[in-house]
Amino acid sequence: MNNKIVTRFAPSPTGYLHIGGARTALFIYLFTRQNNGKYILRIEDTDKERSKLEYEEDILAGLKWLELEHDEFVRQSDNIEYHQSCLKKLIDNNLAYVSKEEVQKEGDREEVIRFRNPNKKITFIDLIHGEIVFDTTDLGDFVIAKDMATPIFHLANVADDMASGVTHIIRGEEHISNTPRQILLFEALGAKTMPIYAHIPLILDRDRAKLSKRKHGASVWVSEYKKNGYLPEALNNYLALLGWSPQAANNNEQGTDDEILFREELLKRFDIKKVQKKGAIFDIEKLNWLNREYLKNQTTEAVAKEINERCPARVKELPLYSTDKLIQLTQILIERINNYGELTDILGRGDFDFFFTTPHPSQELLREGTYLSQTIDIIKNLPVENFSDPEKIKKALWDFASEKGRALVLWPMRVALTGQEKSPDPFTVASILGKEETIKRLAHAEQILS
Ligand code: GLU
Repeated sequence: MNNKIVTRFAPSPTGYLHIGGARTALFIYLFTRQNNGKYILRIEDTDKERSKLEYEEDILAGLKWLELEHDEFVRQSDNIEYHQSCLKKLIDNNLAYVSKEEVQKEGDREEVIRFRNPNKKITFIDLIHGEIVFDTTDLGDFVIAKDMATPIFHLANVADDMASGVTHIIRGEEHISNTPRQILLFEALGAKTMPIYAHIPLILDRDRAKLSKRKHGASVWVSEYKKNGYLPEALNNYLALLGWSPQAANNNEQGTDDEILFREELLKRFDIKKVQKKGAIFDIEKLNWLNREYLKNQTTEAVAKEINERCPARVKELPLYSTDKLIQLTQILIERINNYGELTDILGRGDFDFFFTTPHPSQELLREGTYLSQTIDIIKNLPVENFSDPEKIKKALWDFASEKGRALVLWPMRVALTGQEKSPDPFTVASILGKEETIKRLAHAEQILS
């Protein structure tokens, strides 16, 4: 196949994997898979001063976590000889020249290599922005290498794209202004066909400021979402909606069900040509909503594992603590969190300590003890197996509570079991505590009131 689509994601390892970078990788991934193409991950590490292995590792780990697997891996610095040969070719063909220049600081003369700009009009079609016309005259003879051994960004970038036969360049809009220079270099290096470009919109905050480490801190890094226990599938889904929408008109407000798109659906419906031009607003509430939706589909085992790992040590030291009991809280906890990271907060706050330590509610909070002993009798008569299902406990008590007044029966029962003003309903709590502990707590409350 001659016309196989070849794409690349070309991050510079000068920082951790950014949300914007992950979104670019996702769009590239979706487009490439839709077209049975080849997706190259190219680490652009020619800037030796700013590139760090730590950043490269973070980028790789982030992409792996998001399951955006590449087909081929290239490290730009491995191609340095090829870049040098491209530079030599340009000089030999009189398309670039060595320029002796004053270096301001030292007053020394130093050489740089400049591209001989043909000063012409460049027209290219961008899949998102349409036709773009650019007069390159304004760019002057731009620098393409520090010296014969050290080609820099534009040249290395174009040389690698040519060497890999890249057909589609999907990247952030901040690179739009680089495109005319790079097209000139493609032409000068004798490219037979030009890549097709798609420049995807910037990601902005609610004040329409660009997402940046300086202003937004760690929240711009993918690793932060991993750490905070977001699900990678949910983050992918959310990233897909940053600049693209399955709806005809996207007003980017409240999420709707047709925006919940699993990987297979994204692969079916994503369309690079329908990506919007205007900046995409990053909205954590919408990500939280999506993550909650994805949480609903997690297996009990997966959630249990997270709960166990994220439960603070303090809770694990409470007298009635057991891993089994903690795991029984799965349903209660899952309904109350946006991400797994919040498990630590919610358990750490002590809202559910009553499951692991006997409460001593005040008379004032218990309010009313009139029906406690009858409640105990009903509970005593309930077979122990029925405690596995809150509905069965509810059924056993419901008629009695309805007859005597639900608040009068169920409030003291719930407070006896939890010691708290607010908590899950008494049937759910009793089911988790089990028959014996439930009776014990109700009897304890009776004593407090007597
Ligand atoms: N290395 C460039 C960057 O990290 C990307 C260049 C490109 O995609 O063409 O922004």
